[in-house]
Parts: sequence; structure tokens; C-alpha cells
Amino acid sequence: MGGNVNGLLDGKRCLIVGVANKRSIAWAIARRLDEAGATIALTYQGERTEGDVRALAETLSRPAAAVLPLDVQDDDEMDAAVAGAADALGGIDVLVHAVAFARAEDLGGRFADTPRDGFELALDVSAFSLAGLARRCEPHMTDGGSIVTLSYLAAERAVPGYNVMGVAKSALESIVRLLAWDLGPQQIRVNALSAGPVRTLAARGIPGFSDMADKIAERTPMRRAISTDEVADAALYLCSPLSTAVTGETLHVDAGYHAMGL
Ligand code: NAD
Repeated sequence: MGGNVNGLLDGKRCLIVGVANKRSIAWAIARRLDEAGATIALTYQGERTEGDVRALAETLSRPAAAVLPLDVQDDDEMDAAVAGAADALGGIDVLVHAVAFARAEDLGGRFADTPRDGFELALDVSAFSLAGLARRCEPHMTDGGSIVTLSYLAAERAVPGYNVMGVAKSALESIVRLLAWDLGPQQIRVNALSAGPVRTLAARGIPGFSDMADKIAERTPMRRAISTDEVADAALYLCSPLSTAVTGETLHVDAGYHAMGL
């Protein structure tokens, strides 16, 4: 975990989408932004995770402004979650999007065999949702703002097994660049963090994840894995006044693995 960041985000109002449990990257980000002085609103996907997310929200240093249901495939829930968060926070300065899903049967095996419905589901949840949320947050970001999403190297390289999620991450990074252009005039910045492998619920759905993560850790320039706290520190940078001219960027937080060719 990085150093003392007291006050860096004083008064900032943050909507964080993608907390499922204490291992979620979004939760590490929520804690870090809270430590930096921000007020947080969280969402949860379905009743199964509501209790966990509410319990986590209570451990923040200041009470979460709101804990709201949100399935990003449901337009009405998108409307209600963003409106509810903006209402509770009194506006929005930061949106963190840390959401991805593909069916287990569409990961592993050959990408060539991905069916249309599995493709559409993965792209809808993991990529289009960023555009849908950004569009809804934009009118509430009247003092400018920062939008941060979570990507992975499979957006840029073929990672066998990651398959349709790689395509979704490519789309996500393209959406980041287009949103940066669309929202730039309002001083709303849009960036992605391309994180190295970390053991979370979503990661467990990827066949052979653990072996792959160990192999990647050995081959990074820094010869180690990364932590969710390190991703959270980079998110804090992108949400803070330290990055006011950074937009349309994909920042790798992967101990340098993306730089390697062998
Ligand atoms: P996680 O399982 O903790 O988080 C994924 C979140 O997506 C969950 O909160 C889940 O509820 C949410 N989600 C899925 N479908 C949804 C839907 N229809 N509506 C609303 N929410 C939905 O796992 P994580 O690893 O923290 O994943 C967060 C982000 O980080 C994802 O975009 C993931 O691809 C990305 N990422 C993860 C890794 C890794 O190794 N874990 C590496 C790079 C990028």
C-alpha cells in the first residue's frame, strides 16, 4: 500500500461499480479513495452480494452515501443507480467501472467456437456497460470528473483461454478512447488500468488462471505478482488532481509484464 494520501480527494464524490467481496479490485479502490478523503457510493449485483457489499460499506472511514442495486444489463437499474448515487452524493466526480462477465463455457477451448449469444453477453456486460454508465454520469459531473475502468493485456495480445473476454477488453479500451473525446470538453477524463493477474472471484472463472498467474509473475521485469492495493493506488492517481491532463490512456499496472517480448 502506498503512502499517506490524506486529503488528495477531499470532497470528491465517487460512484464505484463492481464490488462483489473483499477481494474485488473495486473494493481495494473504494478503500483507497475513502482514505484519500472521498465520499463513496457502491453498487451490488443482485441479492446474493447485497449483504457482503453492505457489510463492507460499513467498514469505510465515513459512511457510504448509498449502496444500490445494479445489473448493468438492465437499463432501468442503470438509470436508478446513477440517479440514486448522484442524489445521495450531491453530484458525481468519479466513476469507477470494474465489471466483467463471460459464461464459463465461452472461456477456455477455442475462441473460434464462441457462439453469438456468449459473445453478445460478454461484450454487453464487460464493455458496453462503461458507455452506458458514463453517459448517465455525465450530466452529474458538472465540475469535470474522472472515469476509470479495469482492463487486461488480452485487449492487446492473444491470450488463449481468455478468448471472448479479450475481445471485450479490446472493445473496452476503444470505448475509453472514444469517451475521452466525447467527454473531454466537459473536463471529464476517461482512462483504463490494465492490471496484471490477481486472484479474485472473476479470475477464478478463467480456466488455468492460477498456473498462468504464477508463470506471468516469474516473467515480469519485477519478478513478482501485483496486489489489488497497487491497482488501487494507480486508480487514485487517475482520479486525483495529479493526472488532470491524462485521458484516453491505458495504464499498465502489471509489474512491467506488457513490456516483455520473451
Ligand atoms: P470481481 O469478481 O471481484 O469483480 C467483478 C465484478 O463484476 C463483480 O462485482 C460482479 O458483481 C460484477 N458484474 C458482473 N456482471 C455484472 C452485471 N451484469 N451487472 C453488474 N455487475 C456485474 O473480480 P475483479 O477481478 O475485481 O474484476 C474487476 C475488473 O477487473 C473486471 O473488469 C476484470 O476483468 C478486471 N481485471 C481483473 C484482473 C484479475 O486478474 N482479477 C486483471 C485485469 C483486469
